[in-house]
Amino acid sequence: MNFEKIDIYGFKSFADKVEIKFEPGVTAIVGPNGCGKSNVADSIRFVMGESSAKSMRGSSMLDVIFNGTEKRKAQSYCEVSLYFDNSQKIFNLDYDQVVLTRKLYKSGESEYLINKTVCRKRDIVDAFRDIGLGKESYSVIGQGKIDSILSAKPED
Ligand code: ATP
Ligand code: MG
Repeated sequence: MNFEKIDIYGFKSFADKVEIKFEPGVTAIVGPNGCGKSNVADSIRFVMGESSAKSMRGSSMLDVIFNGTEKRKAQSYCEVSLYFDNSQKIFNLDYDQVVLTRKLYKSGESEYLINKTVCRKRDIVDAFRDIGLGKESYSVIGQGKIDSILSAKPED
């Protein structure tokens, strides 16, 4: 799978629009404590349709919207887009590049888009599942969660 780029706007600590390109060879993001590394991982799960505020490390889902600082106004919505190279048709979609987007407004309403066209959450969840990345597949594992997976009982 070729995951090319993330665009983040108004999500958590990313007040301004930020573009993170994953050139071939990029395997890690490093930086000081609190600089936003886990927020990047959260942003990916956000697009995948995550609905648990707790797993986004907030008390309400709206906590993912940039909530302002002393010098900056809070944002009224957030938007994250994941860009995939689809020239090998890993997604069963007729585009050479697939862009999956989720927006969340202060009203609590989410909007999902495939290549800028509004779709259902289900369409995005299904698209991820088709390429083997589902909520249940542990494809994105949060900080501190590896231990709970390794120590899980069979019943869990
Ligand atoms: P560590 O190395 O400690 O794991 P990290 O690089 O993973 O750190 P994150 O947890 O991604 O850091 O980022 C935490 C920062 O994101 C905190 O400074 C927090 O204030 C900020 N943050 C989280 N939610 C919001 C929000 N809604 N608005 C503004 N800032 C936010
Ligand atoms: Mg972290």
